[in-house]
Amino acid sequence: MEKILRGIMRYRVLDRASMVKQFQEVKDNPTPKAVFYTCMDSRMIPTRFTETSVGDMFVVRNAGNVIPHSQHFVDEMTSCEPAALELGCIINNIRHIIVCGHSDCKAMNLLYQLRSEEASDKARKPRRRLGTNPKKAAAN
Ligand SMILES: [Zn+2]
Repeated sequence: MEKILRGIMRYRVLDRASMVKQFQEVKDNPTPKAVFYTCMDSRMIPTRFTETSVGDMFVVRNAGNVIPHSQHFVDEMTSCEPAALELGCIINNIRHIIVCGHSDCKAMNLLYQLRSEEASDKARKPRRRLGTNPKKAAAN
């Protein structure tokens, strides 16, 4: 936590003025060129590896850069992924959507692990033949 607080203080002293200038330059006419979905992994720094800056793109981050299928978008559920598509593609007429994964993604590894555990559980369960009653079979 100390490192983060020191970084904030350094930013305020060293970089804030130039960032505010950049914010003011794009304030009234931002022209983002892409909606960029990526993982929230701390090793991912999208503005660094895309060499983009203030106003260049909308960035949405979540665990595993997952974008739910449109069938899962319901009125009662709020999610930033479809909102970013609406804001980027409908309101700002952006035509580029980038979904950026990365190697050794812990979120994806967990999903694969859960999937293989589920498959293993299914394989371990004895299959019941049609027409048999497991309680009767146990009593015999
Ligand atoms: Zn990841």
